[in-house]
Amino acid sequence: MPDIELLTIGTELLLGLTLDTNSAELGRALAGAGFGVVRRTSVTDHPAAIGEAARAALGRTGLVVCTGGLGPTADDITKRVIADLFDMPLEFQPALWQGLVDRFSRFGRVPSEKNRSQAEVPRGATVLPNRWGTAPGLWLEGSVDGLTGDPQVAILLPGVPSEMRGLLHHEVLPRLARRAGDHVVRSRTVRTTGIPESSLAGRLGEIEAELAPLSLAYLPGVAGVDLRLTAWSLPAAEADARLAVGIRLLAERAGRWAYGEEDADLAELVLAAARRKGWRLVVAESCTGGGVGARLTNIAGSSDVFLGGIIAYDNQVKVEQLGVAPELIERHGAVSEAVARAMAVGVARLLRAEAAVAVTGIAGPGGGSTEKPVGLVCIGIAVAGSGEAHSHVFPGDRGEIRGRAAQTALSYLLQRLTPTPAELGALK
Ligand code: AMP
Ligand code: MG
Repeated sequence: MPDIELLTIGTELLLGLTLDTNSAELGRALAGAGFGVVRRTSVTDHPAAIGEAARAALGRTGLVVCTGGLGPTADDITKRVIADLFDMPLEFQPALWQGLVDRFSRFGRVPSEKNRSQAEVPRGATVLPNRWGTAPGLWLEGSVDGLTGDPQVAILLPGVPSEMRGLLHHEVLPRLARRAGDHVVRSRTVRTTGIPESSLAGRLGEIEAELAPLSLAYLPGVAGVDLRLTAWSLPAAEADARLAVGIRLLAERAGRWAYGEEDADLAELVLAAARRKGWRLVVAESCTGGGVGARLTNIAGSSDVFLGGIIAYDNQVKVEQLGVAPELIERHGAVSEAVARAMAVGVARLLRAEAAVAVTGIAGPGGGSTEKPVGLVCIGIAVAGSGEAHSHVFPGDRGEIRGRAAQTALSYLLQRLTPTPAELGALK
């Protein structure tokens, strides 16, 4: 695989104020396209830092992708510095300027003098049109003083992730294709939820030997455990074929805990299952404070299934709005299966929905006891008037506990919305 380096530019990246997602995305895409991504560097918006890093990368591999510093402000100096390396003077391109004027006018604005620098192009460089923003990408190919070997290539992309992504897939990868090796590094992921990493490993058994030469990684997170399968340096067709077989095997072994692939979202599956049944969903949330509703409404088109809900944080709301009996709270406590069940039944009745989920728990950091520790979450489900409830003790900080509670609530909802084998038999 031909080697390539990444250079991300921006003081904010080194201060940790902006997460360098561009490197991660570029690494994945370039490895998947047949390049050996051998090094990534981040530097501040200083000419010397950018120039030295780019020159060093070109000296090692002759091929570098840079992001950031293409904007119109004083700290955006990437183009000038890299053009200097290649000894290409900047030239104003009227056509590029007209494109900028047209783009601004669509938003009822006029570009300022500062924007003129965005219409300057190093002589001989290829402009990579940016349909997602104002700064075009640039492809510089030539010799850098003092470096030997083939012509060096520097590809400059904007820092804004959505613009970087658009240019990468539409302009850069097609142009890089002829330089790519025929071996690739590609990954696919099976998503699981509701089963701890160690139990999942137990279910999968000695699967690594069966999957070889693919490698398997367990990636636990708030949504569950992702199983990532990676093909290392295989011909593209073989990598894809082996990944397809491996993914099927993983999903089969993970059984009902596997709910999708790549960035599949449980909320989307819940909505689809409810839609198939013609059911409407509602929520009653205490410790998640609307987190389950947020997950559902995050999915475009959720309004045909999701009606709404009640954030019943205080007991008064649980009693007065949801109709939870005060004695139930007195006897079992607000965080209890009895109350979770009553919340679910209550909100389903109040908002006239076929299915409801309720969450009540102790997200911490305070409020726990030996009997009811921080992380205890009770989830109630009501379907067609009858309720059930489940308890979990989730690990993590407040954010993680709330995230796991919302994910687990969705997973119980999905179970209740998906026909059981017996129901499927009855349908036949
Ligand atoms: P720039 O192209 O340098 O003007 O960057 C524009 C915006 O893109 C910055 O304000 C950051 O929010 C974002 N950005 C820059 N570099 C990166 C990166 N490597 N990863 C993610 N976001 C970035
Ligand atoms: Mg910047």
